[in-house]
Amino acid sequence: MSTQLNVAKFGGTSVANYHSINNCASIVVKNKHTKLMVVSAAAGVTNHLVMLANTALTSQQITDVIVSIRKIQVAILNELKRPSEVNDKLFELLDELDGYARHEEINYKDDLKDALMSMGERMSSLLCAAVLREHGVNAINFDVRKVMRTDDRFTQAAPDINTIKILSRQLLAPELENHIVVTQGFVGADAQGKTTTLGRGGSDFSAALLAEALGAATCEIWTDVIGVYTTDPRITDKARPLPELSFEEAAEMATFGAKVLHPATMEPALRYDIHVFVGSSKEPDKGGTWIKRNCEHEPAFRAITRRKDQVLVTVKTPKMMYAQGFLERVFHIIAKHDLSVDLITTSEIAVSFTLDNPPNSMSEKMNKETIVELSNICEVVIERDFDVVTVVGNNMHSSAGVSSRVFAAISDFNLRMICFGANVHNLSFVVGKDDSEDIVKTLHRALFE
Ligand code: ADP
Ligand code: ASP
Ligand code: MG
Repeated sequence: MSTQLNVAKFGGTSVANYHSINNCASIVVKNKHTKLMVVSAAAGVTNHLVMLANTALTSQQITDVIVSIRKIQVAILNELKRPSEVNDKLFELLDELDGYARHEEINYKDDLKDALMSMGERMSSLLCAAVLREHGVNAINFDVRKVMRTDDRFTQAAPDINTIKILSRQLLAPELENHIVVTQGFVGADAQGKTTTLGRGGSDFSAALLAEALGAATCEIWTDVIGVYTTDPRITDKARPLPELSFEEAAEMATFGAKVLHPATMEPALRYDIHVFVGSSKEPDKGGTWIKRNCEHEPAFRAITRRKDQVLVTVKTPKMMYAQGFLERVFHIIAKHDLSVDLITTSEIAVSFTLDNPPNSMSEKMNKETIVELSNICEVVIERDFDVVTVVGNNMHSSAGVSSRVFAAISDFNLRMICFGANVHNLSFVVGKDDSEDIVKTLHRALFE
């Protein structure tokens, strides 16, 4: 395999319609090292599928949602120069989707939900390969389930890195010799061959995992913004794109809410030292952000992120001072449910921590079970409607005056909890959800404008 191999991933808005897919095809064709294209579902499709999977709908409502999905896909089909090449396959996939959506147990069985949720990527990869062929390249659509082995935690599956590596080298690498391969992000399969998914936004992670498995030099994440910004450009138009970021900074940003990258994307990149590029498929000439191990500059402040939908859990036992092993029992319960605790503070009689609680997510369900179990061993207080705002940078713990600049900027706001991250890259605040946007804007003004 060429050591200069590039894997290019295109997100939902980049493959939303025929015109956008053409932009993606031009990007792929332009770089001779790009052999693998990883695609998301067309914008909106996964949200429709989630609705079908998680909501009890009447037959008419199911039909309406499916019609919306069909419209998106058929609009692309109809613009192809040779629609007949993929027509039958697309309608076969739409029929398969229909079958899952109307299955009587669809709202109850996670394996069925994943089979349904994978359909968006399966359709978009078929159509993207067809568009690439119009650009004169020998493109094929490859079923990623042959190589993307995961465990069977449906809707939130974890990859089996070694097996992915072995299967990719056996089954995918040979295809890259003579073709440009288009495959699905987000989708995997367990050891039994059952379809799984990697969690929302998981296509970035797929691309990084495949890049690692194939020994790629670079992985490009093409999206709707010209790189990773100082903060979400939807929060303030003063946000500006960053030319470079370190793996650690990017991982921290993703973990603490920068939706532009799935939180796990940096893990394979870091393991294999794959340089990651983030740019806009609409404006590829505007450049973007390079994420790598060592940056030229390591500024104290790099970016600000916000993560919404946090619950603050406080566990109290008056006997905590004497109760040896109490913390261990608390964390045993949290770990058993596979929840990760990012922010935590302790006092002699209480421990407070945040849990990620996006509505209708797997973690929401796990959080409920965790809280019930914790209540069996101690007093538990739950507070809702919080966001976490994080300043990401370098050496924020040790440099004089760095954190005081942050605190001075937001001294007028009510900060429910303040945490220095366990590493040197993060300073986080738990704040009321109605304040978080103003806090991000205020911090951005003080640190970056
Ligand atoms: P895709 O469908 O291509 O995966 P996403 O919607 O998942 O795209 O991610 C891109 C979006 O991430 C942007 O439109 C932007 O609003 C949001 N975003 C959040 N934080 C940042 C940030 N720091 N820099 C850039 N984009 C960000
Ligand atoms: N289509 C999936 C989602 O919308 C995965 C992705 O786009 O990354 O979550
Ligand atoms: Mg995304």
